[in-house]
Amino acid sequence: MKKYTTRFGLALFALLMIPDMVKSQNNNHLPPEATEFYEPLPKKIKAGSQTGEAPSDAIVLFDGTALDAWRSTGDGSEAKWNVSDGILTVNPGSGPIETRKEFGDVQLHLEWRAPQEITGEGQGRGNSGLFLMNNYEIQILDSYESKTYTNGQAGSVYKQSPPLVNATKSPEEWNVYDIIFRAPHFNKEGMLIKPGTVTVLHNGVLVQDHFEIKGPTTYIGIPHYTAHKDKLPILLQDHGNPVSFRNIWVRDLD
Ligand code: MG
Repeated sequence: MKKYTTRFGLALFALLMIPDMVKSQNNNHLPPEATEFYEPLPKKIKAGSQTGEAPSDAIVLFDGTALDAWRSTGDGSEAKWNVSDGILTVNPGSGPIETRKEFGDVQLHLEWRAPQEITGEGQGRGNSGLFLMNNYEIQILDSYESKTYTNGQAGSVYKQSPPLVNATKSPEEWNVYDIIFRAPHFNKEGMLIKPGTVTVLHNGVLVQDHFEIKGPTTYIGIPHYTAHKDKLPILLQDHGNPVSFRNIWVRDLD
């Protein structure tokens, strides 16, 4: 009889208590307000359009008028690329240009178009490049109907990661890059603590998905990190081809 009472007691305990234990694990008994929060309040901004207009909290790097935000790499003199009809075009042989302001973590928007006269093949056809922190190249190339090594085509992290798909438009059309970049971090001794990462949308299509950058872009050899400043300019490459740009803006994510 005693055994029976004990068993009955356990069964009763289970029947009464287990639902409550499950409930408390699920937190289902909480009021809906318990999982709603109001602080911090995201800053209200005015969003731009998919192409053209920048969001209200962006730093505009090129709006179709002047090249004030840029300088020639090396001697730091005025940028010598051509601006006409709201379009910026590489002036072949004048060298790369870089932003006067320096950046680390950024969201970046850039529109580019391959040269209207189609010449060359592979890496020689409409080659430029966007270098994040002066070091990490997202390739700009006319990859519409031209073959090259896959980790060197448009949308690649040059010589490190091919794009997930080829979303390149024909040379008559504009391409749009939307990039989210997180800078690498180094300790005081110059050792790499955290590699940089990059996500790239090419014409709205995901082509780089939080790729862990292996080091600064190199044409020859395996890339490896060398410590650098927390912020550096953004650079556009002069690869000898008259690639065009418009609507370049950046949002500082630091
Ligand atoms: Mg390039």
